Amino acid sequence: MPRPQSLALLSIVAALGIAATAVSTSQARPEQTLVARGELRWYRGNMHTHSHWSDGNDYLEMIALWYKDNGYDFLVFTDHNVLANTERWVEVDKTKGKRTAYDKLKARLPDWVEERTTAEGNLEVRLRTFAEVSDRFAEPGTYLLIQGEEISDKFDKAPIHMNASNVQELLTPRGGNSVLEAMQNNVDAVIAQRERTGVPMIVHLNHPNFGWGITAEDLMRVVGEQFFEVYNGHPGVHNSGDHVHASTDRVWDIVLTWRISELNLPIMYGLGVDDGHDYHDIPSRNSNPGRGWVYVLSNSLTPEALIESLEAGRFYSSSGVQLASVTSTDKGLAVEVKADEGVDYTVEFIGTRKGFDSRTEEALDEKGQPVRATRRYSSDVGAVLKTVSGPKASYEFTGDELYVRARIISSRLHPNPSEEGEFERAWSQPTIGPAAPPAND
Ligand SMILES: [Zn+2]
Ligand SMILES: [Zn+2]
Repeated sequence: MPRPQSLALLSIVAALGIAATAVSTSQARPEQTLVARGELRWYRGNMHTHSHWSDGNDYLEMIALWYKDNGYDFLVFTDHNVLANTERWVEVDKTKGKRTAYDKLKARLPDWVEERTTAEGNLEVRLRTFAEVSDRFAEPGTYLLIQGEEISDKFDKAPIHMNASNVQELLTPRGGNSVLEAMQNNVDAVIAQRERTGVPMIVHLNHPNFGWGITAEDLMRVVGEQFFEVYNGHPGVHNSGDHVHASTDRVWDIVLTWRISELNLPIMYGLGVDDGHDYHDIPSRNSNPGRGWVYVLSNSLTPEALIESLEAGRFYSSSGVQLASVTSTDKGLAVEVKADEGVDYTVEFIGTRKGFDSRTEEALDEKGQPVRATRRYSSDVGAVLKTVSGPKASYEFTGDELYVRARIISSRLHPNPSEEGEFERAWSQPTIGPAAPPAND
């Protein structure tokens, strides 16, 4: 049990709101309470979306409306290696959504569809551009659409997909001589565009376990990468890993532990996203929208304000659990769930302590043969330091933590899960612990 003294301190900090930043290491440890008050609001958004511009099965405008109708404040379109900014006509019967998508589009927006019939008698529709869709369906302060791209690269057989949010110009996959080098090259390309244009944009590593492409050892070494997907709603991305491969939660803990203790790199934040491709059969086993998202605490609904908050860690990720507050101080970490009646919550505080067993072993497949996968780490890495039942929980540092983060698990099953038997969850961002070494840069 935490001492009453520290709980009192946490609630004082909570009452004061975002407290002055006190930094004892050069790892970022903003002392803050994330809670909606005054101008500060939680904005719900999805940062991974596919449409007819690549391999999604619906029109951009209908997807914009789906998220608007379903309680989202912002949405980032991230089609594969394309921006929706050119004139493009598609043959209805050859689109992923075929007549189903077309009929729904015509029914919902009868005066908006531009279509023509070719000499061969084929019905074609012009895909609306991002600018057209944003002009018509975004509403200042209420609903924001952001241009993005899924930079879809690969090395050998490993898919390397990285989302650029608020990108201004198309980025072509940069490639490289290894998975790590390709990731680094793509991160560098986004940062270069950001610097050249002066427009804030962020890059994040998508679904590390898709095609078992990305290992923790690769991800931990990418410089300038601040985000990765701890939860992706596509059913083919193996969030939970398997007996050979680490889960995305475990990858996160390995990355955090090594970046803090060995690599002298900033921590990485975990995103929840949909990666929606299939919009006509909901719920289903397809890659539906509505499975994972972020709640960003911001004083306005603009790309600039949201990105500033994301980069400062003023957000959490969710697949159904809503939080009222997240408080991090030099004393510890506390979370409060916006509890639903009849639902139980378990809060796990996860972290790694200084002096952890840092030995690792090669990953082996079923036959005992070495495989290219995240290595095996001791149970000291990303240990569950404390478990609390109930919607309110706090963790008090004992002094040897490198970082601590909270994972909240609901007793309610996800209504449209990406994996069978999945409970609704939320993930706080990690807070740097008292034993994190000062950075040398
Ligand atoms: Zn992808
Ligand atoms: Zn995707």
